[in-house]
Amino acid sequence: MASIPPTSAPNPDATATPLPIGIADAHRAKKARTGATGEEHATPDKANELERTQRKEPNRRPPPLIGPQPIRYIAPLPARTSRPQNEMALPIHLYKPDDFNGLPTAVDENPHIGSTRQGEKPELPKLTYTCFADVEFHATHIPDFKMRGNVNEEQLASLDALGTRLLYVVLHGGGQRFLKRAPEKVKEVKDFLQSLSFECHEGAKPELDVIAPIAKNPSDRKRFGQPWTLFLVLGEEEHALRKYLLWQQVFSVHPTLSFSIFESAPGQPWPIMVLTGAEGAVVDSPEAKKQVLAAIKKKLWSNLDYCIYAAGLVAAYWGAAGNMATLARMSTDSLDIKCVRAELSGSEKLVPAYLVVAKPPTTDRGEYQRWSNFFTAPGEYWRELYQLKVNAATVDCKLCKDASHCACDCPLPTTLGWQGPTATDIYQKEQEDLAHAATSTTAPTQQAAELWRTNPKKGERGRKAASPKKKGSQSGRKDSRPIRR
Ligand SMILES: [Zn+2]
Repeated sequence: MASIPPTSAPNPDATATPLPIGIADAHRAKKARTGATGEEHATPDKANELERTQRKEPNRRPPPLIGPQPIRYIAPLPARTSRPQNEMALPIHLYKPDDFNGLPTAVDENPHIGSTRQGEKPELPKLTYTCFADVEFHATHIPDFKMRGNVNEEQLASLDALGTRLLYVVLHGGGQRFLKRAPEKVKEVKDFLQSLSFECHEGAKPELDVIAPIAKNPSDRKRFGQPWTLFLVLGEEEHALRKYLLWQQVFSVHPTLSFSIFESAPGQPWPIMVLTGAEGAVVDSPEAKKQVLAAIKKKLWSNLDYCIYAAGLVAAYWGAAGNMATLARMSTDSLDIKCVRAELSGSEKLVPAYLVVAKPPTTDRGEYQRWSNFFTAPGEYWRELYQLKVNAATVDCKLCKDASHCACDCPLPTTLGWQGPTATDIYQKEQEDLAHAATSTTAPTQQAAELWRTNPKKGERGRKAASPKKKGSQSGRKDSRPIRR
């Protein structure tokens, strides 16, 4: 007889092998839960969890509404702040960009607004006759980085060893091409300077030398390209001459021998950017200028990166104390704007422009560039309906090399007694362009011809563009016909 297996025995009390206590309990619990639904595969752990959650689950059903209910006032939740906490500290939330009370600051420190012959009058040289304009001029300011632009590194290193004996000579209207075509100017400058003798020289010539710059990248493609600086090396004892040269600064002898003398000017420039736009965008009124300044400040004050960076510079270089918003605002307190004429990039066409200036909060070149990049990065600013493009034009004097005006507005040639070159002398090309523009705009029929008839550039371009393909493909019949003829 086959005995019945114990596992299928209907009677649990039969002589089955008893399970250990723990396993038996779990088995019993599982059987109680899954017996009805048939979830035989649920593990004990999952089953326990399910049981626990079911037990803790609150009853989601609302209590039944029986009888009249009292009016319940639902208080509104407090409004969530729309800005992250760190942006609350931005100056834009604490100060008004269009508040110009007491601004701009540091106006007197702007190096572009002074004049020559400042300070105590030095000993004057013994002039047998005055061959240069012996008067006061508008002072030019050129920072070192610009003075030494495109000069060979080895030469600069040797010059640095000279200390205060080194002065810079900037030829008016000079440039790499000027020095290449007229190398004799170096000797002429030296001869002129040696004619300035003082008591201490006892009739002899001062001890000095004038050295031409060696270009880092030689190219005379640009007429006024750097380097345009000559280096004046004074003798050990030439203190009187040095003082006088820096006091007078400007020596205009004749149109091709005219120059200014400078000592080293570490530091960064005040002009930051040039803004130009369509006709009507640049207006020389206090209201319009304030609108532009407010637009710039609004942009910067909303930029957390700018505020952190500028605040650090202001604290480090100006020794100012305060929170980030205060220091960042201080970095723009000297912000000012000037209406000037600028030259469109790539040409010498003059356009009205806003020149934005501010006291640089650093003397380091790299830091300055990063700081000023925050101003130029937006690419444009808006004054009401007018778009103002950033640096689509330049303000840079080809004559005296100052960056606060163009040569056509250079204050040197307008000074009484000026004997040096004028903007007309150095801008031959512009004159030709203007003459061409004058003839091309007088006759409306000629204008029309230029616009529609004699200017069918599409067709011209099409033919010109097709010509390289002829060589490449040679598959079109039209191309082959002229060749057969
Ligand atoms: Zn100038």
